[in-house]
Amino acid sequence: MTTTRPGPACAVWELTLACNLKCLHCGSTAGGRREAELSPAEALALCGDLKAAGCGGVALMGGEPLLRKDFPAIASKVRELGMELSVITNGTVRPEGIFELLKSLSPRAVAVSLDAADPALHDRIRGLPGAFAKASSFIEAALKAGLPVSVITTVHKLNIAELPKLRDIIKGRGIAWQVQTAGAEGGRFTRDLLLDQEEFYSVGMFVESCRRGYSPEELPVIGAHDLGYHSLLLKNVSLYEKWEGCQAGLSVAGIRSDGGVLGCLAVNDDRFIEGNVRREPFSSIWNRPGAFSYTRDRSAGEPGENCAGCGHSESCRGGCSEMSLMKTGRLHNDPYCFRAIEDRLFFKGPGGRIRKLGASLSPARGGGSFGGLGGIFSGRRRKTGGD
Ligand code: SF4
Ligand code: SF4
Repeated sequence: MTTTRPGPACAVWELTLACNLKCLHCGSTAGGRREAELSPAEALALCGDLKAAGCGGVALMGGEPLLRKDFPAIASKVRELGMELSVITNGTVRPEGIFELLKSLSPRAVAVSLDAADPALHDRIRGLPGAFAKASSFIEAALKAGLPVSVITTVHKLNIAELPKLRDIIKGRGIAWQVQTAGAEGGRFTRDLLLDQEEFYSVGMFVESCRRGYSPEELPVIGAHDLGYHSLLLKNVSLYEKWEGCQAGLSVAGIRSDGGVLGCLAVNDDRFIEGNVRREPFSSIWNRPGAFSYTRDRSAGEPGENCAGCGHSESCRGGCSEMSLMKTGRLHNDPYCFRAIEDRLFFKGPGGRIRKLGASLSPARGGGSFGGLGGIFSGRRRKTGGD
C-alpha cells in the first residue's frame, strides 16, 4: 500500500537547460535546451501537481530560467497556489518588467550568481564578456525594487582567493550571500580546478569568520547545506543547526526541464531519475514505495572507506550524495567532510592545535585572518591554472 509522505520543503526546478552563458562549473553543462522540455501547459500542470504533493516551495533555476517566455506564468502560478518562490538567475537576462513582476510575487529570494569581484575573472568563469557588469546591474535594480536579493558564489581553484574581495563588495547592502563549492559533473570543468580538502575546509573557515566578524544585518552569509559536517570548530557555517544527512528525496526534490524527477538536481546522473512527470504525477513518483531509497532507506548502503567507523555515519549516511558520487564513484562516502578533515589535520597532531585555530577566527582578527591557511585567500598559497 502506498503511504503518503510529507511533500518536499523545496522542489528545485530546472525550467530550461537553455542558457546564454557557458559557466565553467555548470554541473549540467547548460547551453542548449533539453530535448522535449515541458510545454507551458505541462509546466503549469506540474505546479498544481507539486502543490498536491504538499510541496512547500519551488526554486526556479536553469539553465537560465528567465529565458523561458512563460516564466511569468509559471512563477505566478507557484505563488497563486500558495507555495514559496525563489528564483536563481545568472543576472544577465532582463525581460521587460521582470522586477515589477517579481515584486508583485513576494519571492523568498532572488539569487544572482557572482563568482568573482574581479570583473574579468567573473566573465572568464561565466564565459561571457560583460557578464559581471550585467549581473551587478541586475543586483542593483533588484535591490532598488525592494526584492530580497541573494548572491551565490560557487568556489573552485580559480576564484577561492576572491572570497574576501567579494565579501567587501557584498557587505552592508542588504544582500544575503551563499557560498558553495563546485563539483565536477559538468563537461566544461576539469577536475584539477576542484578544491582540495584543505581548501574546502578553508572555505568553511572563511564563512565561519564572516559569521563571527559581522552581524547578520551587515553580512548575512551562509555556507551551502553540504559545506562540511559535524565540525568541532566550525559551528556556524550552514543554516542547518544539525546536519542530518543528504536531503535528496527527503525534504528536497529536483525536476529537470524534460520532467525527469531526481532527489536533487546536483546528482546529475540518469541512474537516479525516479520517474517523469509526463508519465505520472509528481505525487505518485514522490510517494512510490522504494523511491529515493539511497536516502530514505536508512539501512541501504554501507558507508564507504571515508566514513567507515565514523560515529556520525548513522545519521549522516556519508554526506552529500553528489560529492560522494563525484569524488569516489559511490554513495555514502563523501571525502569532503569537516569532521574527517579535522581528524586528519588536527587531532592527530600535537595537542591544543584546534584552540589556536579557534583564536584565529575571532572577530578581533577582522574575520579575515586564517593563520597558516590565510594565504589561500590572499592568493599567495597556490597559483591557479591559467591565471
Ligand atoms: S565521516 Fe562521513 S559519515 Fe562521518 S560525518 Fe563525515 S561525511 Fe558524515
Ligand atoms: S545531493 Fe548534496 S546538494 Fe543535493 S540534497 Fe544531497 S547533500 Fe544536498
